[in-house]
Amino acid sequence: MATIVCVGEALVEIMRTERDRPLDRPALFGGPYPSGAPAISASCAARLGASVGFIGTLGDDAFGACVRNRLAADGIDCSALATDPDRLTAIAFVAYRSDGGRSFVFHLAHAAAAQVRMEQVPPGYLDETRYLHLMGSSLSASESLRETCYALAKAVHEAGGVISLDPNLRPELLPVERIRDVCAPIVERARIVMPSGEELLTLTGAATLKEGAHYLIAQGVEIVALKRGEEGSTLYTADGALDIPPYTVQEVDPTGAGDSYDAALLVGLSESWDLYRAGLFANAVGALATTRLGPMEALYARDEVLRFMAEQGRPLP
Ligand code: ATP
Ligand code: MG
Repeated sequence: MATIVCVGEALVEIMRTERDRPLDRPALFGGPYPSGAPAISASCAARLGASVGFIGTLGDDAFGACVRNRLAADGIDCSALATDPDRLTAIAFVAYRSDGGRSFVFHLAHAAAAQVRMEQVPPGYLDETRYLHLMGSSLSASESLRETCYALAKAVHEAGGVISLDPNLRPELLPVERIRDVCAPIVERARIVMPSGEELLTLTGAATLKEGAHYLIAQGVEIVALKRGEEGSTLYTADGALDIPPYTVQEVDPTGAGDSYDAALLVGLSESWDLYRAGLFANAVGALATTRLGPMEALYARDEVLRFMAEQGRPLP
């Protein structure tokens, strides 16, 4: 049983080994790397020392074993991680551009990851869940996964737990107007929303970030954690906006930074840290996540994160 539960797509990522190699022509790939936004958050939170569960589905194949072994090695409760004998493990093919942009080809809607059902969650699994972390990408992946996310959110919310949402908009999976619709029932229950700037504007239809954050707060969200890449993050609450300064790193691969940030913020909040402390820790974990190739290859234990923060002259207060 776990304090923090993540649900959604677990997949392998196959990435271009060089930048500016579009996916519509031949070039080399590397991988498989364990990935999937909710799986990254789960692994990161577990490595930071939290008690974490992951609800998802893998195929009965080598890629599935790659992901399962990694989640288990990180100490995640895998009792709700199912294997679908009839479908392959989901795959994301990713190409990076020099301007920092990415493009994806997803094998997801027809893969094992899209088939997640409440029946695979063992009785009592959610009894100690205080945080349920959901992703817009999961809500966009398939009806089965979306309905399971909704049912889990209802169960955890009604039991007094915190629902958090990372919009993680992936227009490759669903048109953005639809993503807004599928996120709406979760936004209604969410206490924490963790978007990037572009996601905040798209999700709310607001003209500015401040307006977008206030729109969510007016709907009952308590914390809007705006992720700002190398500029750090801003935490909006009913009391105002709190800018959290960034850490400086040599970015190698940005994938997974946002998901790692989410995890670290939840870990801090679950330990009753104040907002600034949790935000600073999350900035450090997000920054560190960009320092190695592969979405889950730069997740660190808590003592390593604390050492990094101290070395950078901005230790955890
Ligand atoms: P993704 O969805 O691609 O994982 P995101 O857009 O949700 O990413 P980012 O803003 O890229 O999230 O990263 C999350 C957090 O990680 C940032 O708020 C920041 O604190 C930290 N971070 C990310 N990139 C850098 C960087 N290059 N330098 C310093 N900190 C970074
Ligand atoms: Mg993100």
